[in-house]
Amino acid sequence: MIDLRSDTVTRPTTAMRRAMAAAEVGDDVFGEDPTVNRLQEVAAERFGYEAALFVPSGVMGNQIAIRVHTRPGDEIVLEAESHIFNYEMATMASFSGVLARPISTERGCFSVEQLQQTIRPKLYYLSRTALVCLENTHNMKGGTLFPLSLMSSLVEYAHAQGLPIHLDGARIFNASVATARPVNELACGVDSLMFCLSKGLGAPVGSLLVGSQAFITEARRVRKQLGGGMRQAGILAAAGLYALNHHVERLAEDHENARWLAQRLAELPGVQVTPPETNIIIARLATMEAAELTRRLQARGVLLSPIGRKQLRLVTHLDVARADLEAAAQTIREALRM
Ligand SMILES: *Cc1c(COP(=O)(O)O)cnc(C)c1O
Repeated sequence: MIDLRSDTVTRPTTAMRRAMAAAEVGDDVFGEDPTVNRLQEVAAERFGYEAALFVPSGVMGNQIAIRVHTRPGDEIVLEAESHIFNYEMATMASFSGVLARPISTERGCFSVEQLQQTIRPKLYYLSRTALVCLENTHNMKGGTLFPLSLMSSLVEYAHAQGLPIHLDGARIFNASVATARPVNELACGVDSLMFCLSKGLGAPVGSLLVGSQAFITEARRVRKQLGGGMRQAGILAAAGLYALNHHVERLAEDHENARWLAQRLAELPGVQVTPPETNIIIARLATMEAAELTRRLQARGVLLSPIGRKQLRLVTHLDVARADLEAAAQTIREALRM
């Protein structure tokens, strides 16, 4: 199988598994797992923040941040196709009691003006805007990069209004490699951010929440409330440390592969593709249904995700080499012709 559904499908390499097996561990609920502590220190330092917290998933990281930054009855501003709005099962409503105020955009990032128009006036009879969430890279817009100058302006504007900003940076290392800028610059002074170890970085489990010491202290309480307090989690943290040390620069390969595959797809009749900025390709089909093509490909050993009636999502990652993509491109060509 050539699996292009997501960069979450990667399996830990032999070297990563060795690092996991050798990890020093302790009870992390007592704060005594040296490997978890090291991962959290490394993450905080890389991003230029005071502290970090290891969490089991990106969703948990985002939802902890929302809980810490808001009170029930508040509103949060986010992008209409963002992960937090669409793929986190309305947890912001059920767990934090907040209302989403989405902004529709072309490429996943809204302007300062749009933000300005969406923040509720400070009147006692209106709900309070309490948080702004951004996503870089933007998953459903096709791994698009959030322009750094826009991000700075948004942070500056939000802060001037007394509003915190949370960054869903599930794939921030893809953004870092694609723009050749360190992640501490991409953080742009947001109040909290989440990044995933389990996507392009190739670790089996885990994300980190990064922020101030006060934020992380609260976040640790909320993580425990959610059942996210883990014990000898150093085994997982070791995979994360290994990923941060060995799997960041190589993301350039995934980006190169995505560009290559997008070009091959663009040559096919009835397929429209925008050149990808990172590792996610969105392809639009002129006539065939996405579900039909997905079924044909699955029978031929190629997996991808239909994300709309005529849209497909393909993601490159550590476990697909150029030769796999050459085979996949050929299979897609054949499946479209049948
Ligand atoms: C995958 C993803 C998440 C959530 O991560 P999980 O570990 O699957 O919970 C959050 N935001 C974005 C943009 C993602 O792509």
